[in-house]
Amino acid sequence: MDCKIIKTAHGSIETPALLPVSAASYGIWDMWIEKKFPAPWDLAQGTVLSLYHILQYNRKDEIREKGIHRVLKTKKPIILDSGGFQFMKKNAELEEEFVLRYQEESGCDIGITFDYPILPGLSLEEKENRMERSIHNSNLALKLKNNKKMLLYSAVHGHNPADIKKYLKSLDSGFDGYAIGSLVPKKRDYNMLINVVSAARNEKPLHVFGITGFPALFALSYMGIETFDSWTYLVAAAFKEYIDPGTLKRVKLRKVKKLPECDCFICGDYDLNDFLEGTSEAEILLALHNLNVFLKEMECVREKIKENELESYILKKAEKNSSIKRAFLIAKQYI
Ligand SMILES: [Zn+2]
Repeated sequence: MDCKIIKTAHGSIETPALLPVSAASYGIWDMWIEKKFPAPWDLAQGTVLSLYHILQYNRKDEIREKGIHRVLKTKKPIILDSGGFQFMKKNAELEEEFVLRYQEESGCDIGITFDYPILPGLSLEEKENRMERSIHNSNLALKLKNNKKMLLYSAVHGHNPADIKKYLKSLDSGFDGYAIGSLVPKKRDYNMLINVVSAARNEKPLHVFGITGFPALFALSYMGIETFDSWTYLVAAAFKEYIDPGTLKRVKLRKVKKLPECDCFICGDYDLNDFLEGTSEAEILLALHNLNVFLKEMECVREKIKENELESYILKKAEKNSSIKRAFLIAKQYI
């Protein structure tokens, strides 16, 4: 296993990489843009933004006119997801051509096609219909794409290896990578996650949407998956939960008297009381600490891959977190 490099118009991403989803409320986006706090898109190797959130933001036209990097004041790679998952939850959808043009004009580095995710419990007919429409959009985007600098990833869906293989076969060739979704509602089902991701593996980079915690993060890294995204750092902060850098578990701050040790730049300046305040600022500080823990672990993962010691590193982490071991042992069967 090796670390790989994904080259984009705004620099490289060394894999495996966790790219934070920056899906905060707009007041928080503004504070990041105004540089009142370090922004997730600058702390990580890049970020994932959803068109669903951007289209509700008062800077949506500015992003299209000036470019997303100028508005966010960043030089890092930006993945612009079509937001299919969030639109599905609102019973809404976008035209693929609109999505593609917005992605191209905003100057994002990687655009992901508009998809119709599938949820467990759908009728077979509805599931096939949604998968067909997602495939249609992907192939259409490939035909209509003008911006040569932007990489185009096709969304991929399926709850079992047979569906995934069939889906991939129906896609035209020429995508720069694939992004696998529909796994969010089953995120704790490591068997299914790893089985499906393993079936989607091919020679192109694979992105996995919506990773929630360290067990999946270590397992997917071990499987050689290139990128995955997560907004757990934000969700945990919204619930006043602090990721313990030792156990990698979420600690409810209202139930502790003292913070677990952390050497990140946030914890050097702020303490438990700062995180507990009911303000957006407190939420940002806590989210940044949580993100620091994720990013530090990913740095260690890449370092251990280079030293050929990833397995022993993961097993060491698993001593304090049994879910890490469970997910890892499943992933190991597929290697
Ligand atoms: Zn910290």
